[in-house]
Amino acid sequence: MTLTLNPLGCEEGKPADRSAFSFETTTRLPDSAAGLGRGGKRYGRTGIIHTPHGDIRTPAFVPVATQSAMKAVLPEQMKDLGAQCLLSNAFHLFERPGEDVLDEAGGLAQFMNWDGPTYTDSGGFQVLSLGAGFKKTLAMDVQGMKSDDVIADGKERMAFVDEDGVTFKSPLNGSLHRFSAEISMRIQHKLGADIMFAFDELTTLMNTRSYQEQSVERTFRWAKRCVAEHQQLTQTRLGKPYQALFGVVQGANYEDLRRLAASQIASLDFDGVGIGGAIEKQLLGQTCAWICDEMPESRPRHVLGIAAVNDIFDAVENGGDTFDCVAPARNGRNGAIFTRDGRWNVKRAEFKHDFRPLEEDCDCYTCRNYSRAYVDHLLRAREFNGFTLATIHNEHFFVKLLDDIRAAIDAGYFDEFKRETLARFYAHGSRG
Ligand SMILES: [Zn+2]
Repeated sequence: MTLTLNPLGCEEGKPADRSAFSFETTTRLPDSAAGLGRGGKRYGRTGIIHTPHGDIRTPAFVPVATQSAMKAVLPEQMKDLGAQCLLSNAFHLFERPGEDVLDEAGGLAQFMNWDGPTYTDSGGFQVLSLGAGFKKTLAMDVQGMKSDDVIADGKERMAFVDEDGVTFKSPLNGSLHRFSAEISMRIQHKLGADIMFAFDELTTLMNTRSYQEQSVERTFRWAKRCVAEHQQLTQTRLGKPYQALFGVVQGANYEDLRRLAASQIASLDFDGVGIGGAIEKQLLGQTCAWICDEMPESRPRHVLGIAAVNDIFDAVENGGDTFDCVAPARNGRNGAIFTRDGRWNVKRAEFKHDFRPLEEDCDCYTCRNYSRAYVDHLLRAREFNGFTLATIHNEHFFVKLLDDIRAAIDAGYFDEFKRETLARFYAHGSRG
């Protein structure tokens, strides 16, 4: 009898081969006096994540294709602009079209015709966001923000957490649903991404210390249940490629809780770690370092929901390997363009007659072929092509930023590159 071995390294009738997923480090950042880890350690590094659908060279930017699609941009165009992998949201795909459809299609990558690795989040963020009216970015700038801005008062609560899971009302049709560790694992196994996340409880920076403590313990209990369900599904869903599971570290801004949560996640049989939850912007790098102090270096680390260029540098320097962010697409559709000289809006009056590309010297498809005046016009006219062109440029900006950071670490000039890039980007008081 000959065995059928498909290109993804799985065999018909056999459980997935876990060795299809692995991580190797290429270059480590040298430790420095300014290092935020124990003894001045800096955890930044370059490496390669091997997955059944291909390799990811890290640090890497992971564009967010929420509903198994980048809004207004085809997967082929994402490949062309240099994206290595995409992340979709389990909750959205569970609501529509349903995880069975993706399973039938052969998994997320095949469903959306994406030739490369994919991620799904656990659904926890979306489900719990229904409960509190969170700000959508997790690295929050809390200065001047009141708790009412985050936990909206008088807003209908759409999600309720109990020990076993979360009950929530569908924003699509108001029907009641339930998510738990086991349900999230079953959904994500059917969605078929290469990298999945454990179901965790997301808190905000406004929750009390005692609630954060309870939440960290609950997330640990859910993490154990996720690992058990994941292992069971890996053994029983035959002929499928291996799906890696990352545990998520919560603990808000508290060093002791972050360290505790990280050592709890490190004690379980996860393939990698997700750095999650609300983090005060100024503490992002430090939080990553606390977590890395408690983690084996052999596991890749994903930072969930990065918001800005300086956040990316802080997270890379302190051990983040991969980063997802909705900012380039969401801002691009509103006309906000990221360039090395900062973020500016192409819909300003001065660009109406400006026939230069969005960014001079940018080699993205948009900048090679279209002008500021044209993109400005399309966005004002709400033409879909405007969303396409702005998104292509912005996604390319972040993908290339991470490519350049990777090259800088490998060649030993990360510190100079960081200093020069941030000085130039924020020289005119740019946001983002
Ligand atoms: Zn461009």
